Amino acid sequence: MKGYKHILLAVDFFELAHTVSSKAKSLAEMYNAKLSLIHVVDNMPVPDIGYGWDASFDVDLTSEMIEAAKKRLNGFAGSLGVDEADVWVELGSPKSEITRVAEENNVDLIVVGSHGRHGLALILGSTATGVLHHAKCDVLAVRLKDK
Ligand code: AMP
Repeated sequence: MKGYKHILLAVDFFELAHTVSSKAKSLAEMYNAKLSLIHVVDNMPVPDIGYGWDASFDVDLTSEMIEAAKKRLNGFAGSLGVDEADVWVELGSPKSEITRVAEENNVDLIVVGSHGRHGLALILGSTATGVLHHAKCDVLAVRLKDK
């Protein structure tokens, strides 16, 4: 069997993210593959000015969230021995951004958790399902159990 050369790990910082990352790291070591990380900051809803909100508040909040996510993902990358050049923080829909970055960077395996923040009640969470449907490469969903 041909091995994997570039593995992309989708990180959501959910409490079980470490279970998913240790699987991805072991696979990268086994195949001598490059390991990259991605976190997607979910699109924020545009505030309805009818609520009396100042729209600029939302813009600042989004860039602050991106900065905070970059810091956190870089720390996570350090603990896995992944170079900061191989770390992506994107804004948008998680499934679309994960599959776009995978295609643009010749990723041949995407690793996700079976469940994250959105999916403990389901067999497979919504992001995991979306990535499976959209990806052009292999996808590994690491089975996570609720406690
Ligand atoms: P979910 O389908 O949202 O329950 O999450 C399942 C898996 O998708 C998580 O374990 C992560 O691997 C990945 N994931 C979910 N949300 C994100 C996100 N915003 N950025 C990157 N990966 C994510």
